[in-house]
Amino acid sequence: MTPQTDLRCGVSTCNAPNALACGYVDRTGRSCGFPVCLEHGTTINEVHYCRRHAAILDALGIENTAGYELPSLDNRNVSLVAAVSTELDASIRDILEHNALADEHIVWDRHVKAVTDSQQKIFWQKAWALTGEKGPTITIAIAAPDDIDAQVLVTANSRPISVGIPTWIQSRRKGTHLPPGVDSLERQLYGDFVLEVVRKGVADVRSGLVRRRTSDR
Ligand SMILES: [Zn+2]
Ligand SMILES: [Zn+2]
Repeated sequence: MTPQTDLRCGVSTCNAPNALACGYVDRTGRSCGFPVCLEHGTTINEVHYCRRHAAILDALGIENTAGYELPSLDNRNVSLVAAVSTELDASIRDILEHNALADEHIVWDRHVKAVTDSQQKIFWQKAWALTGEKGPTITIAIAAPDDIDAQVLVTANSRPISVGIPTWIQSRRKGTHLPPGVDSLERQLYGDFVLEVVRKGVADVRSGLVRRRTSDR
């Protein structure tokens, strides 16, 4: 049943009546309230959300938000980490699979998680790891700091192997309008670049491990 409200959908091409205010409330208590119709929003656990915030909850794998400290209203990094990770997920697992020793298997995050570094700085992250009898041996993570918009950090065993703003986002920031084909090409090139540093990062960790194991003897 369509609810009766006096709000109109805030999606510029829509403006449909009976919109609902986005129910997203961030960890500082700020609420989004952006009005969206049923078509342009998503209802999760009986709460209606705008697209941006529905995507954040989806990336974090959260349905019931009670008790969660949700990212700030304007956070785009959670969705960015989710998008880059989803695109590269199969290839990263392939790379790890290729480098697995006989007793190792792959584990990986299904959702983006909040992690803190040694300085208590928050990062949004998704990780993949090769793990053996003694725990993880190689961990690859794609992360973005909570406080720097669009910065993507790729790490191998917590060591940064790539830090930067993806090129297609840089182009958008410059106000360059990329035709769809060029936009997807830039995304693909960025993905290829990340996979290359991941391959090298995995090889470096592996050779370090091999050396250490040899010298242990
Ligand atoms: Zn709408
Ligand atoms: Zn919202």
